[in-house]
Amino acid sequence: MKTIKKFTHIDAKTVDQAASILRAGNAAVLSGGTDLLGTMRFEILPNYPEVVVNLKSIPDLEYIKEDASMLRIGALTRLEDIAKNDLVKTRYTALAEAAHRTATPHIREMGTLAGNICQMTRCWYFRLPDNRFNCVRKGGKQCYAVRGDNRYHSIFGAVKSCFAVNPSDTAPALVALNAKIRTSKRLIEAENFWDMAVPGSTVLDADEIVTEIQFPKPAAGSKSAFIKFAIRKSIDFPIVNCAASVLDGNARICLNAVYNKPYRATAAEESIKGKTIREDSAEAAGAAAVESARALPGDKNKWKIQIAKTMVKRALLACS
Ligand SMILES: Cc1cc2nc3c(=O)[nH]c(=O)nc-3n(C[C@H](O)[C@H](O)[C@H](O)COP(=O)(O)OP(=O)(O)OC[C@H]3O[C@@H](n4cnc5c(N)ncnc54)[C@H](O)[C@@H]3O)c2cc1C
Repeated sequence: MKTIKKFTHIDAKTVDQAASILRAGNAAVLSGGTDLLGTMRFEILPNYPEVVVNLKSIPDLEYIKEDASMLRIGALTRLEDIAKNDLVKTRYTALAEAAHRTATPHIREMGTLAGNICQMTRCWYFRLPDNRFNCVRKGGKQCYAVRGDNRYHSIFGAVKSCFAVNPSDTAPALVALNAKIRTSKRLIEAENFWDMAVPGSTVLDADEIVTEIQFPKPAAGSKSAFIKFAIRKSIDFPIVNCAASVLDGNARICLNAVYNKPYRATAAEESIKGKTIREDSAEAAGAAAVESARALPGDKNKWKIQIAKTMVKRALLACS
């Protein structure tokens, strides 16, 4: 049984203090710890953090409040609180459903929204204990999924040769609901939060901390939904998920687990524009979403293309 290596644990009192510890180097922030501690225990990364900065000791980072223009969710708000919140369920439905479909009740009670959108990829080569595959995502030379077992990998190509996918369930809901992410330094559109330069990571600087997620108040008559396909009904990462929001013939549609970052299905948005959502128009939007999708050589992940198409169709129908 693998035990976790030693590290220094610091309870941060403020966001500034946490950021300054990060600036000193070789440190990681911890929210619920449901992802970070696993990566440390299994030593999947080339650099083991010497210091872990606990953000839970910082007051006032856990809240759900709506003001005149937006819904604000504190970075450390737990997924279970988001899933159960009546306001979120009624007006920001895609987010509530995404939070509800994440992991297990225990993990949702620990896991936070910020941790969910910052979590690392679940690619099994990346995640193998003791950094056995020093892949491109870790600064190595190759993506082992290209010739290996890639049945869960990207159907929309690689970023810097990495075919791993973003595994977050809440991320596509943020993009579909046009959210913004407030950090210790700036405000970032959710759509731009996942970096393209370093595959699978976020645009956060090494000393930058997510503090709040902001959602514009949905206009009257708008609807949103989240649909997830996983092998198991519970405790399972998405094979493909999809969030959509619709208002007056305009849709924002985002798939995840199909590419290095959440994939905005703009071709599907165009396809459904101005149309009533019905079986045939939703089907056509699903087909448009995957028009540029390609299976990896060997076709092991080809099945995901059909699933992505169906997820888009079902997410749209759920908004009708
Ligand atoms: C068995 C199991 C099943 C799971 N199933 C799913 C699933 O179905 N869907 C899904 O989406 N996820 C799943 N997860 C992944 C994930 O652990 C949870 O979704 C959770 O939301 C992560 O949040 P956390 O607060 O525990 O993150 P942590 O583990 O605390 O942090 C995760 C990462 O984010 C960084 N981070 C945390 N907070 C901040 C912040 N405020 N600012 C900047 N960086 C930050 C950390 O440094 C770390 O790199 C699963 C995990 C497990 C162990």
